[in-house]
Order: sequence, then structure tokens, then C-alpha cells
Amino acid sequence: MSNNINVHQDANDNSTSSTEKKFELLVVGAGIAGLSFVYGLRRSELYREGKVGYKIVERRDGPGTDLGYPIHLSSAARKSLESMFSPPDLEKLHHARSKIPVYHDGITVSSYRGKKAWRTVREPGTRPMIEREELMEILRGGVGVGEVEYGLEVVSHSQKEGGVEVKLKGREGRREEVKVDLVVDESYIE
Ligand SMILES: Cc1cc2nc3c(=O)[nH]c(=O)nc-3n(C[C@H](O)[C@H](O)[C@H](O)COP(=O)(O)OP(=O)(O)OC[C@H]3O[C@@H](n4cnc5c(N)ncnc54)[C@H](O)[C@@H]3O)c2cc1C
Repeated sequence: MSNNINVHQDANDNSTSSTEKKFELLVVGAGIAGLSFVYGLRRSELYREGKVGYKIVERRDGPGTDLGYPIHLSSAARKSLESMFSPPDLEKLHHARSKIPVYHDGITVSSYRGKKAWRTVREPGTRPMIEREELMEILRGGVGVGEVEYGLEVVSHSQKEGGVEVKLKGREGRREEVKVDLVVDESYIE
């Protein structure tokens, strides 16, 4: 059992002074939401100034590849990824999107026999689709290889004085308890 979490910090980050307490986050789940959150956090001033630390845990044993259908990025999702990504990652994003030949951000509804039943076309020329794994790979690269703690599941968390107490379980009977300032899970970052 430990009372503290390991805090990720870049080697060239400015550290907080010894008197200033870092605000510690626990991010639950390394899906698109959790990875996007950490990607954005790492580019934030607060993180770079060493004022915020985080740990990200994922109950799956490793990065999954059985991720189902390609994902449709809404215009809001495209805008937020474009504003958050570094130029090299933006290039990877455009490249990944260019692989799927859907040329408008709209909806086509087909009957079960495959006949087009209804169609709306918005923003012609847009490539809104991306393979999940490709998006996750870009996000994981931004988070940093090896930073997600796989095989660790949050079992419960409860608000206590001075923070949130979190219980985790891992492989081979591993049990851990940490105290953080904020737990970020899907309900916080939809
Ligand atoms: C067939 C299908 C098609 C879809 N198409 C689209 C689409 O086109 N566009 C779109 O925006 N959305 C689509 N969705 C929804 C899409 O799945 C979500 O938008 C996206 O995957 C949500 O990402 P997420 O990170 O919130 O959740 P998830 O991808 O579910 O990631 C959550 C992660 O948290 C982990 N986790 C959960 N609980 C714990 C815990 N207690 N401790 C540790 N780890 C935990 C899980 O293992 C998982 O890896 C689709 C869904 C399906 C099923």
C-alpha cells in the first residue's frame, strides 16, 4: 500500500518549489478520452510549470488493437484535436484521416438491404473518419510510451478530507491505495 502516486514530469520541466504542493490527478482509462486528456494536460502551462502531476491507469493488459469500427470525428472533435496537437502529430492526424475515402462530414442511413434511405452532406471535402487505433497511437505517442500503467483497475474512489482515496487492483493480487486531489474518469471528460 502506498500513500503517494508517482508523478510524471518531463526532465526539462521547471519544478515547483519544495513548499508548493503539486495538484495530483489520477486518470482512469487509456481510451480516447483519457489519452486526449493527458495529451492536453502535458501541453498545458500548469503541467509544464510543474504544478500538476498525473498517473494514468488502464485495466486492460496493454494497448488494444481490437477496437472496432473507424471513428467519426465530429467538427467539434476535429477542431479540438487540431488546436491541441503538435505540428508533427497534426500531420499524422491528417495522414490517418486521408486513408478513409469518406469525403464529407454528413450522415448516410441505409436500409438493411443496403439501399440508401437518407443522406445529409455537410462540409464537402472533409475527411471525418479515422481508424481508432491510429488516433490512439498518436495520442499514446503524446502521452509518452510506457507512461500508461496497464493492468491496473480502479476499484473504488471516495472523497475524503484533503483528497480522494482510490483503491486499485492489478495482476497477481496486486492491491494499491493512493490519495490524489482529483480523479478524472469518463464521467468528467465526455
Ligand atoms: C460500434 C461503435 C461505433 C462507434 N462510433 C463512434 C463514432 O463514430 N464517433 C464517436 O465519437 N464515438 C463512437 N463510438 C463511441 C466511442 O466508442 C467512444 O466515443 C469512444 O471510444 C469513447 O472513448 P472513451 O475513452 O470515453 O471510452 P473507451 O474507449 O471505452 O475507453 C475507456 C477505457 O477505460 C478503461 N477503464 C474503464 N474502467 C476502468 C477502471 N475502473 N480502471 C481502469 N481502467 C478502466 C477501459 O478498459 C477502456 O480502455 C462508437 C462506439 C461503438 C461501440
